[in-house]
Amino acid sequence: TMAIETIVWGENVHEQTNGTVRAIYPKGMHAAIADALNQDKGIHATTATLQEPEHGLPQVRLDKCDVLVWWGHQAHGEVSDEIVERVAERVWAGMGLIVLHSGHFAKIFKRLMGTPCNLTWREAGERERLWVTSRNHPIAAGLPDHFELENEEMYGEPFGIPEPLETVFISWFQGGEVFRSGVTYKRGAGNVFYFRPGHETYPTYHDANVRTVLRNSVKWAYNPLAAIPNVTDAPNVPVDKAPEKITERGPKLHAAGEAGYR
Ligand code: ZN
Repeated sequence: TMAIETIVWGENVHEQTNGTVRAIYPKGMHAAIADALNQDKGIHATTATLQEPEHGLPQVRLDKCDVLVWWGHQAHGEVSDEIVERVAERVWAGMGLIVLHSGHFAKIFKRLMGTPCNLTWREAGERERLWVTSRNHPIAAGLPDHFELENEEMYGEPFGIPEPLETVFISWFQGGEVFRSGVTYKRGAGNVFYFRPGHETYPTYHDANVRTVLRNSVKWAYNPLAAIPNVTDAPNVPVDKAPEKITERGPKLHAAGEAGYR
């Protein structure tokens, strides 16, 4: 049987520098997330971190990846633009992408959304109540109509994202704000899901409902079709290769065989 090949990418900074985070996630947040995914026999999850060569995402590895899960916070700026573009091209070609929590400001998410992805926030350990707003959505399978996280960071609207394809969860926070906390997109052939919870000083990725969402979202994002080859190519179609016979006419800017502008 073919398991969904999944890479959990973790920035892996606060686990090394903050005792609270290390106590909750002794093997790193990425390892806890991968553990949750590997509870499903249909998923094979491995991890990659910022500190590895090419951030653990060399092209050969990414080419075999069905779904990439991304958690970053403090070190978004240290992620290489070349690798961001590499990931974006894999998404357009059909790889799934799950962006978690503070990944709303990750370069890859902003690149794919094209909007600021900003929000309001507060770190006060308040209760978050997530409401399922799309009850038959596969990402919400097996969940109650709402669930709570006793301690979370608040993210509030307005959230600077494009209008989602689907909104699967809306969060309410104890302090009164609300937030679109589970939203889907299609970018090229790739399925993209943003899921809000996961502040590193709270045990969010040990929560059973959150772990269910992680597994569901990987299965939802998986695209079994073959990757689109050369997804960013913009080939010229010469006159003699046009589907219908035409005669060239009018003024010309480009020379025959020219690559064109980028
Ligand atoms: Zn946070």
